[in-house]
Amino acid sequence: MLLFQATVGPFEANCYIVGDNDTREAIVIDPGGDSARILDIIEQHKLSISAILNTHGHIDHIAANLAIRRHTEASIGIHPDDAPLLRDPLLNGSAMFEIPFKSHQPDFFLTEETRHVVGRLTIRVLHTPGHTRGSICLLMNDIIFTGDTLFKESVGRCDLPGGDAQELQHSLRTKILPLSDTYVVYPGHGDTTNLKHERRRNPFLCEL
Ligand SMILES: [Zn+2]
Ligand SMILES: [Zn+2]
Repeated sequence: MLLFQATVGPFEANCYIVGDNDTREAIVIDPGGDSARILDIIEQHKLSISAILNTHGHIDHIAANLAIRRHTEASIGIHPDDAPLLRDPLLNGSAMFEIPFKSHQPDFFLTEETRHVVGRLTIRVLHTPGHTRGSICLLMNDIIFTGDTLFKESVGRCDLPGGDAQELQHSLRTKILPLSDTYVVYPGHGDTTNLKHERRRNPFLCEL
C-alpha cells in the first residue's frame, strides 16, 4: 500500500493519498487546498487517481476538489448527509472567508454499505455524525482515516451547522471504541496516532 500525507490550506488539514503499489491506482482523501502540491505528489509517484473521498463537507477538506477532479478526472464521493455542503458556501464554511466555494456535486455516495475498491485495497465506511451530520471515517486494513471526528487526544468541534456533541459521543462509543487497539489513526488535523493511545489519553474516549 502507498500512503502519502500533505498538510494543506490555512487550516492545516491533512490530505492523504492512498494507493495500490502495483497497479498505481490511488485515491485522494480530503484535498483541502494546495492542489499544486497534491498534484505534484500524484505525478511524482505516477499515480492514477480514480476517486476523491471527502470525510465531510467543510471547506478545509474540499477546497481542492475541483482542481484535482479537473486534472485527474477522478470522481467525488461523500456521505449523502454532507452532500449539500459541497455546493453551499454557507454550509461548508467558505462564506465566512474571502472566496465562497462551490465544489463539483458528488459523483457517488459513501455509506456503510460502500465497499470502495482501489486496486487490491478495499475501503469501508463508518458513518460517524457529530462534527457534521454526514461525517465519515474510512477504514482500510488496520488504518482509519477519521476526518474531524477524532484527533490525537481530542475530537472535532460540534458548534458548526449540523454539529451535535451527543451525536459525536454516540458515534465514538458505537463506531470507534469497538475497533481493535491496533488501528492506526490518520486524523483530519494534527498528528497520526493509534486507538490504543487514544483509549488511554483522549479525554473524549476515556469518559465514554
Ligand atoms: Zn470540519
Ligand atoms: Zn477540518
